Amino acid sequence: MKVKSGDIVFPGDFLAVSEEVIPSEGTYDDDGEIKSLVVGEVARDDRNKSIKVISKFSTPPILRTGSRVIGEVIDVRGQRALVRIHSIKGNRRALATYFVGGVHVSQAKKGYLSKLTEAFRIGDIVEARVTKVMGLDGIDLQTSSRDLGVIKAMCTRCRHFMEMNGKDEVKCPNCENREKRKLSANYEG
Ligand SMILES: [Zn+2]
Repeated sequence: MKVKSGDIVFPGDFLAVSEEVIPSEGTYDDDGEIKSLVVGEVARDDRNKSIKVISKFSTPPILRTGSRVIGEVIDVRGQRALVRIHSIKGNRRALATYFVGGVHVSQAKKGYLSKLTEAFRIGDIVEARVTKVMGLDGIDLQTSSRDLGVIKAMCTRCRHFMEMNGKDEVKCPNCENREKRKLSANYEG
């Protein structure tokens, strides 16, 4: 069934094939299929062959390449740290949709990083920049700039937040544990 203007769609819903229309705001191209990135109303322009989804939430914070986001590290495995994105920096509204982004080991910091666990641990709060949006589970993040990275580190031993203790090192005020991180210049600990 053809999706038409006024239809309400949800994240991941199929809208059209990419040969038919050009994806615009609130959509993404999933290997040739244009899908919705948000909950919203379809606006289809057949003359200009474009389709967009207007979010049903006022002033929607929509994730796009270049957005700076705040999130929580929910997993660190192999080459990728997974970050649950809570908000877009400068926009106090929580995101309408649940987004998880990934920081590849090569995008975590400048220079050599032998293990991703020397940059992030589960529970850390990070600030990152979006480098690619390819659907709901294809969000790539980067933290290598000076002002990006961990802004609050959680102790892996006792789950307390830690204090900055020199370059890319944090110390737990509760148990004295020291750990490595890729710290942001804006570390809040
Ligand atoms: Zn501790």
